[in-house]
Amino acid sequence: MPNLSRIEHKPPTFDEGIGLYLHVPFCQTKCTYCDFNTYVGIEDQMSGYVETLIRELTGWGEILGHPPVRSVFFGGGTPSYLPPDDLEQIHAVIRAAFAVEEEAEITMECNPGDVTPDRASSWLSSGVNRNSMGIQSFDNELLSLLGRRHTADEAKDAFTTLRAAGFTNQSIDLIYGLPYQTAQQWSDTLENAIGLEPEHISLYSLQIEQGTPLAVDVQSGKYPLPDDDLAADMYEEAQRSLGENGFDQYEISNWSRPGMESRHNLIYWRNEPYLGVGPGAHSWLGGKRFSNLRSPRRYTTVVGSAYELQTVDPVGPMTLPNGPVEQVDHTTPAVDLAETMMMGMRLNSGVSRDRFTKRFGESFESTFPDEIKRLSNLGLISVTNESLLLSDRGRLLGNEVFAEFVCDLEE
Ligand code: SF4
Repeated sequence: MPNLSRIEHKPPTFDEGIGLYLHVPFCQTKCTYCDFNTYVGIEDQMSGYVETLIRELTGWGEILGHPPVRSVFFGGGTPSYLPPDDLEQIHAVIRAAFAVEEEAEITMECNPGDVTPDRASSWLSSGVNRNSMGIQSFDNELLSLLGRRHTADEAKDAFTTLRAAGFTNQSIDLIYGLPYQTAQQWSDTLENAIGLEPEHISLYSLQIEQGTPLAVDVQSGKYPLPDDDLAADMYEEAQRSLGENGFDQYEISNWSRPGMESRHNLIYWRNEPYLGVGPGAHSWLGGKRFSNLRSPRRYTTVVGSAYELQTVDPVGPMTLPNGPVEQVDHTTPAVDLAETMMMGMRLNSGVSRDRFTKRFGESFESTFPDEIKRLSNLGLISVTNESLLLSDRGRLLGNEVFAEFVCDLEE
């Protein structure tokens, strides 16, 4: 069990650069599997939302003293569903409120149904330099089962349109383990995705979330429960096929061309600071995890001019502003330690030795002597001069390995 009293905990400060996440809670249609904080039929709230988001961004910029921003991620929801003029305005406000680094990665999630040549050009000229497209499958029957509002061909056209407009960094999301999905359909989907030559591919195993239309249909017997063994085979097929086609797996669910990893997501997995704005967005700043009001209407009503503007010491305790923050968790060094290990081990490169030592004041071996010996003897992890990482076997038993670090901290 680690001796926590020895740890000199120094969480990264936000003056070293943060990730900025913007939550867009609008979708044109709701997919059958989706339980994200996103809504259909509330387009009348869009202009109020944009106004509020701008106020929140401006307020945070002042509170944090205009910190450097290493990545911006427009997620949702469907950011591409927002009017391009609004997106341009939001970009301008971000640049005024924060010191966006010249090399910053600026990603926008987009739905194939929203992509046109004009919109693609407008997104590029407003500063977006990476797009992440939710395609999910290249099988039209499965797309229909998922409630997606595009066909496979429309998704391919949208991807090509974005490329032709000048995007040089494009990511595709796919889902596997779907009801009725066969191994052949999954291979075809992978082949189609690889054929588009994206820079990045994220693969998600379907989770049936309570309360979604898909969960209701599975519970009623309308659709069969996806087969776990088949889903595991699909994951292995993806590893093989993406590896053979020049993609490096750098995280449990993510592959990229060399050097094209998602910088924004690396911030999450390295447990570095980020600010989330918009309804329900989560933040990890100044030793606190906090989240905004989930309801877009309440968010829009509450973020008035109520921010207590003050400069915050980036290494000291942070006072949160009045406004949209709903829930706050103060993170202890023990929790930060466990989270740093759990998230970092999701990366193929593992938890960086240098970052760990800088953050906790001592090496992995000093902090976790027994755990490291036990897990190494079982062949589940390896520890090198650069990092602590899961072995191939450890990756199959990832949750059990992560639990070692968490359970011991709770004893
Ligand atoms: S487009 Fe994305 S956010 Fe919107 S309903 Fe579908 S899965 Fe959910």
